[in-house]
Amino acid sequence: MLLITGEETDADTETKAFEAGAADFIRKPMHPSVVRARVKLQLELDLRARALNAANIELQRLASIDTLTGCMNRNHFLATADQELSRMRRHDYAVTTAVLDLDHFKNVNDTYGHAAGDEVLQQAAQVLREIVRHEDSVGRLGGEEFGILLPVSDISGARTVLGRVQEAFAGVRFSGAPKDFSLSASIGISEVYHRDAKIEDALKRADVALYDAKRGGRNRICVSMP
Ligand code: GH3
Ligand code: MG
Ligand code: MG
Repeated sequence: MLLITGEETDADTETKAFEAGAADFIRKPMHPSVVRARVKLQLELDLRARALNAANIELQRLASIDTLTGCMNRNHFLATADQELSRMRRHDYAVTTAVLDLDHFKNVNDTYGHAAGDEVLQQAAQVLREIVRHEDSVGRLGGEEFGILLPVSDISGARTVLGRVQEAFAGVRFSGAPKDFSLSASIGISEVYHRDAKIEDALKRADVALYDAKRGGRNRICVSMP
């Protein structure tokens, strides 16, 4: 807002104008060249503010995603899941969380190279994001391990969704993959409880279930027992 006045003004009126949000204050008589210069300055300031705002949004985006897979990164996933935990306590609906770890992933790197491993990670993440619902969250917790948060989903619903993920993983390929290449994952799931102080409490239980899935022969889903 740019204020132009023809009235006699004192410092108090000018101060009030700025306090009310005026970006500049021009008294009459106006000199067109001065008005032009001041308007130009305001437009430039506005342009800079918009650019800064856009850069901030992009920075926030970059700080919250995992660059390889495009999933949420660990911190963003945990923060999002903690928010969901608070909402769940207020509105009382079932939330399930899962930890998914690719099976024998080291072999993929060792046999086909790190680039192939990266491609597999990207595709696995894409499969996950395509299969879960829009309101679910997928984050890369680290390496070849993903966290999944399924709000308004009980254990049986989570099993169904994650079973679909497992089926779809079998179709994951990388450039130059041999015909017999097959990807599988082990998954641990856990209900999120009201008493969980942080989502990490539920993820720890899912991790124990994941360990059971690995020990039980991999390519399976295990559920954390209350
Ligand atoms: P398990 O079935 O017991 O989970 O065996 P695993 O081989 O999947 O597990 P392990 O923890 O031994 O190996 C994980 C591998 O994941 C080792 C590491 O090189 C690989 N890895 C982690 N992050 C990346 C990444 O960003 N890109 C690639 N290509 N590989 C990664
Ligand atoms: Mg693994
Ligand atoms: Mg792992």
